[in-house]
Amino acid sequence: DYSTPATKDYELSRSQIELGEIIGEGQFGDVHRGTCTIGRNKIQVAIKTCKPASDMAITEVFLEEAYVMQQFDHKHIVKLVGVCTENPVCIVMELAKLGELRAYLHDNKSTLRLPTLLLYIYQLSTALSYLESKKYVHRDIAARNVLVAAEDTVKLADFGLSRWVEDCSYYKASRGKLPIKWMSPESISFRRFTTASDVWMFGVCMWEILSLGVKPFQGVRNNEVIGKLDNGERLQLPPGCPPRLYSLMVACWQYEPSKRPKANQLKDSLFEIMNEEKSQ
Ligand code: ADP
Repeated sequence: DYSTPATKDYELSRSQIELGEIIGEGQFGDVHRGTCTIGRNKIQVAIKTCKPASDMAITEVFLEEAYVMQQFDHKHIVKLVGVCTENPVCIVMELAKLGELRAYLHDNKSTLRLPTLLLYIYQLSTALSYLESKKYVHRDIAARNVLVAAEDTVKLADFGLSRWVEDCSYYKASRGKLPIKWMSPESISFRRFTTASDVWMFGVCMWEILSLGVKPFQGVRNNEVIGKLDNGERLQLPPGCPPRLYSLMVACWQYEPSKRPKANQLKDSLFEIMNEEKSQ
């Protein structure tokens, strides 16, 4: 229930926040680097702003992400620092210093090695498993929503599209552009989003990371994707990807949602694969 903001202790006053340079562009406005002073501590943060003059309804949707983020406490999920609910409204989060994962993969192509990629994937699987344990469906697991906090640390971000699992265990999406090429067949066909469809998306996200930031289904139109999936076509083995890891991706892309691994199983398998590769 978003209507009762349990955000009281997350409320920040304008004077605590100092805006720095723009580091990204969100759906609702610019994202800045900056600082936030809490007591005697001044910490580096990312500040998502909401364009002024937006009506209340837009502000509410914007703040939904903060209400979602405050429920989580996990080292591989970007943490909420607070919100400023007086205009201009903004969301203050911990800063991921090295920015977006896709850009980071592109920029560091020549130096990134398999063990690091496996570490990132493993870290994200712990976040996914945490979300699964909270019965929470993200609905937009993709490399574009992963941020790099340090050379050896990635974090899942962007809870704007997400929704709590409803009693009927799925959420019917009604608005917004959908990330078709990341979506499971049941999400594409019936707008059915569950923890099992998050696992499908996680498979695509693993594929993107092993492909060093290449997007899935390049040159394929959105409306052609479902036909391919129905035909049993899947994303291909990325160069240098260990076969055991690819098998895990393929398991995430089982047509039947119940046949896909659970997030905590993925986490255990990835832990093993990561250690196997380390010892080689
Ligand atoms: P929206 O969901 O509104 O589209 P995003 O969450 O995608 O906004 O944020 C837009 C961009 O801002 C991101 O792609 C990233 O470059 C930057 N950004 C967002 N949050 C952070 C953060 N916590 N640390 C560093 N950069 C961030």
